[in-house]
Amino acid sequence: MKNKLYGNLIFELSREGRRGYSLPRNTFGDYEIPQELCRKDEAELPECDELTVVRHYTNLSNNNFGVDTGFYPLGSCTMKYNPKINEEMAALPQFQNLHPRQPAETTKGALALVTLLEKSLCELTGLAHFTFKPYAGAHGELTGLMTIDNYHRSHGDLQRKKVIVPDSAHGTNPASAAVCGLEIVEVKSGSDGQVDLEDLQRICSLCGDTVAAMMMTNPNTLGLFETHIPEIARLIHDCGGLMYYDGANLNPMLGACRPGDMGFDVMHINLHKTFSTPHGGGGPGAGPVGVREGLQEHFPFVSPYHGNFGVMMRAYAYILSLGREHVKEVGLLATLNANYIKESLKDVYELPIDTICCHEFVFDGLKDKSTGVTTMDVAKRLLDYGYHAPTIYFPLLFHESLMIEPTENESKETLDGFIAVMRQIAEEAKTNPDEVKTAPHTTPIGRVDDVLAAKHPVVTYRQMTAEATD
Ligand SMILES: *Cc1c(COP(=O)(O)O)cnc(C)c1O
Repeated sequence: MKNKLYGNLIFELSREGRRGYSLPRNTFGDYEIPQELCRKDEAELPECDELTVVRHYTNLSNNNFGVDTGFYPLGSCTMKYNPKINEEMAALPQFQNLHPRQPAETTKGALALVTLLEKSLCELTGLAHFTFKPYAGAHGELTGLMTIDNYHRSHGDLQRKKVIVPDSAHGTNPASAAVCGLEIVEVKSGSDGQVDLEDLQRICSLCGDTVAAMMMTNPNTLGLFETHIPEIARLIHDCGGLMYYDGANLNPMLGACRPGDMGFDVMHINLHKTFSTPHGGGGPGAGPVGVREGLQEHFPFVSPYHGNFGVMMRAYAYILSLGREHVKEVGLLATLNANYIKESLKDVYELPIDTICCHEFVFDGLKDKSTGVTTMDVAKRLLDYGYHAPTIYFPLLFHESLMIEPTENESKETLDGFIAVMRQIAEEAKTNPDEVKTAPHTTPIGRVDDVLAAKHPVVTYRQMTAEATD
């Protein structure tokens, strides 16, 4: 059982007079600090011995869950292993200590790296130029859409303001279009989970020369490869619009096929996803935007420097360590792993679109709906077994979406362990549903009220006195 001491705040561990440091004897004599610079009250600082401090923070850090501590099947985010060589490269002092306003002649190595990374990304995507300024995928979407908007304006096409977005799209797609001052037109998905071509034809004939672009993710957010991209690109190009590729799901296509060859004109890459940078908790990221030849002159000004350089270094180290011949295996293994889990669980979890998937797939909850056990319950129960939960309730196309992405670098043993636990939970849902519905039972805190936590967050902590904790 966990020692209760480590659940406390550092202030609660404080005891008057405890010291965690020792200073050398003062040989300089006292220095009189002017009275007006002195604080009126004592600083409220915890007083702890060094060992208590070390244990407190080490134990707190053990409450973190990350790719380095366990399997992390979060779909739509590509939380994959980040090889340690990347960290070593990104920490090289010659790069890490660069200042963005250093004279250009002293930063040639960094600029060379940007150029080499651009060349690699062009080769991998089939596009001609990249800008590295955007700080994340969503920022890349905005940059890409502004590029498209600038392009249309330069042709006097001021009426081109409509952006066609599939109903399965990630929320950032319509959000970026709106921020860019564009109008969103939603295109439906068919029963096969792909863009409904008839609906798109209807939209194209309706919107005609007001179409600015179509945004697509491929494989889409259901993990399905969109097989009609050439027809879709033709429809959009015939209207005079441009094709935007949301590169968040580039992982399974790496080395296998290229957005540029499929008819996309503009794209972003989430370097932190596909090219491995630890990015939990919202950062850091990099969302370089690539374009077809000729469009680069329409890049907008979105930030003064070359983006998050550390993420770019990790991406380049990752690409170099795989090399041309092994980069292909990323997509193949990611796809194999996802299909292996899907096939091993589809008899107990509902698979609404039963087809070969790419790097991720979506269940619609448990197959047996009579138990009342929801996707939320399954996700919470997984925590008891030491797994990070998959993505839940996204995409919005199904009521009980449970989206699993195993990534290319997980071993068969890890996948088998996860499959066994998912089957175990499906069994528990029948034999002991309350255990699942009240999970998690082994984490520092149980199930929080997520609606209340979002609407009425309690962001202060009532500190207990030292006596109360004794
Ligand atoms: C992650 C993701 C984004 C947003 O990217 P960020 O780097 O988090 O800003 C956009 N689209 C899809 C499909 C994604 O999975």
